[in-house]
Amino acid sequence: MQYAIMTDLEGPAGVERFSQTRNYEPFYVVSMRQLTKEVNAAVAGIFDADAEAVVHVVDGHGSGGIIKEEMDQRALYIRRDQPINIYEHWHTYHAFMYVGQHAMACTPNAPLAHTGSSKHIVYKRINGVCVGEFGIGAAKAGYHGVPTIFLSGDDKACAEASTLIAGIFTVATKWGKGWQKARHLSSDEACRRIRQTIAEACRSLTGPVAQRIKPLRFDPPYSYEVRYIRPTKAPQRPLPGVRVDQLDAYTVLYRADDLDLLPLI
Ligand SMILES: [Zn+2]
Repeated sequence: MQYAIMTDLEGPAGVERFSQTRNYEPFYVVSMRQLTKEVNAAVAGIFDADAEAVVHVVDGHGSGGIIKEEMDQRALYIRRDQPINIYEHWHTYHAFMYVGQHAMACTPNAPLAHTGSSKHIVYKRINGVCVGEFGIGAAKAGYHGVPTIFLSGDDKACAEASTLIAGIFTVATKWGKGWQKARHLSSDEACRRIRQTIAEACRSLTGPVAQRIKPLRFDPPYSYEVRYIRPTKAPQRPLPGVRVDQLDAYTVLYRADDLDLLPLI
């Protein structure tokens, strides 16, 4: 089967300050090394369960989060823009996963919580349901029938995933105590749990149908509401098939019958 893993640099064990995720700071590479280890644990777990697996790993952190040369060569490394845009190839995937994920903006005691940009966004909602980066990706996958079956990251990100997707397999790499504070698993223990749990998640794909994790689906018509920290004007250029309304000085509402037409990022 074919699997896609989305990654981020805020969720691995040991990462709790924004300075650890920025490419001009001294501990950035240490964070990248841990994310790479956790990705390799995930890839190993997938192959434990499915020796024929095809695994695509998206390096989702803005300035890069994975040390490509140290990543398990059995998986294909994908920079966000190349060589494959997973968001245009959902029909080829059987499951979607997250490694190194953080919680949505404004989640209490969630380390490094944000949605897209930590400087701009208060919340995003799909059909009235608050979603972060996890929920948006899971909704895109689910729209195309692909279940999101695994997440590793801080405990608040795990809770967010479990709220949206019943039965999703999760591994907490740390327990949030504040926006830049957490209690962490050791590097090796986080990897051990990720390998074991993602293998269980993969095996569940071929288990009894009633127990399989369902794709995250919202009912049409679709709405996507974005609230910004500062006053913002709705985009002026037309979006085909999308109705755009300015709800107030801070909030823009998009509506469409096709989820793929919404500017979900
Ligand atoms: Zn992120």
